[in-house]
Amino acid sequence: MANAKPYKLPLPHVGGRSAEFYQFCKQHELRFQRCKGCRAWRHIPRDMCARCGSFDWEWSRSSGRGKLFSWTTAIQPMMPQFAGEVPYSPVIVELEEGVRMVTWLTDVKPDDLQLGMPLEVVFDDVTPEMTLPKFRRAA
Ligand code: ZN
Repeated sequence: MANAKPYKLPLPHVGGRSAEFYQFCKQHELRFQRCKGCRAWRHIPRDMCARCGSFDWEWSRSSGRGKLFSWTTAIQPMMPQFAGEVPYSPVIVELEEGVRMVTWLTDVKPDDLQLGMPLEVVFDDVTPEMTLPKFRRAA
């Protein structure tokens, strides 16, 4: 849990429904909203289902498994905090439930990324208050 170095990268802005999402991450649970009307999963958190218009939903636990949907590789740091990180690849993971999220991979270098590669969630407790859901290559 304890990191040797203080975490210096920007943290997500947390509020409203996203605060609930990150609270589950802090418990090392990946949960997404699921509509009680049409059973569709959704992410980023919001009050209304885009498919059926229902405001009735619940936080449902994800399997945490998915595949690499897309990525980009930053060669130049876009912010000074990332100077020590380049090259790095923010990725989009598509979970088994169908939702997609922007995240990081912990164990795959940019040159080794493969479209559709199987991934699983890991939780990185970057500060005492913030846990980030990241992904690693699945067995
Ligand atoms: Zn719905």
